[in-house]
Parts: sequence; C-alpha cells; structure tokens
Amino acid sequence: MECVFCKIVRGEIPTELVFENENLVAFKDINPVAPVHILIVPTKHIESIDAMETYDQPLIGEIFQVMQKLARQYRISDSGYRIFVNTGADGGQEVPHLHFHLIGGKKLGKCW
Ligand code: 5GP
Ligand code: ZN
Repeated sequence: MECVFCKIVRGEIPTELVFENENLVAFKDINPVAPVHILIVPTKHIESIDAMETYDQPLIGEIFQVMQKLARQYRISDSGYRIFVNTGADGGQEVPHLHFHLIGGKKLGKCW
C-alpha cells in the first residue's frame, strides 16, 4: 500500500518514534509548525475520522491518553497546546491515514 504513514508504521521509512505500542505510533512532524509538533497515528490504516467504525472508538480514548502523556513529556502541559485533526479536502487533510496533530511550545494564533 502506498500510504506514507503505513510505511512509517512498517518501518519502511526510517522515522524516530517518540511513542509506540501495538495500536499507535507517534513521531515528530517532518514540517513542524511549532517547537513541539507530534503526529499520533493508529497502526491500523483508517483513512479519516469519516472512515471510523464503532469498534474504533476505544482507540480514540487511547489516543487522548497518549497525547496527554506526550504533552507532559515534552513539557507543554503547563504552557498549553493544541490538538487537531484535518479531515477531507476542505479540512486540509494531506495524508489519508487518520492522525492527530499535537502542537505547542509557542503561543498559537487562530487559523480560522
Ligand atoms: P495533514 O495535512 O494530512 O493533516 O497532515 C499531514 C502531516 O504529515 C503534515 O504536517 C506533514 O508535514 C506530515 N508528514 C507528511 N509526510 C511525512 C513523513 O514522511 N514523515 C513525517 N515525520 N511527517 C510527515
Ligand atoms: Zn495508512
């Protein structure tokens, strides 16, 4: 499959993982928009929020737990951070494999 995030999950694109378990991986965005910019990605290929099934719901809880842990680890819990998920064309989604952006480390402007 030509999905770039599936390739990262399979180790075909060398990428330093900042978190890894059987359900999720996390790594730094190649084009960061802030001092901390981490992507949290299910190991299973789910195209987007729109493609999620009921049985994927527990994964979302786990993703938020991991993002809280990473925010603490990268010391942005106190200063604050933003989590976002781009979905589809108007949402600006470029990689069609569900991923959560965790960004922080500077004062973030509103982008809408
Ligand atoms: P989207 O626009 O789909 O929400 O976000 C995709 C993100 O993935 C972008 O911020 C982009 O910089 C990042 N990205 C795309 N390809 C790679 C890659 O091969 N490695 C890493 N670390 N990030 C990537
Ligand atoms: Zn994929």
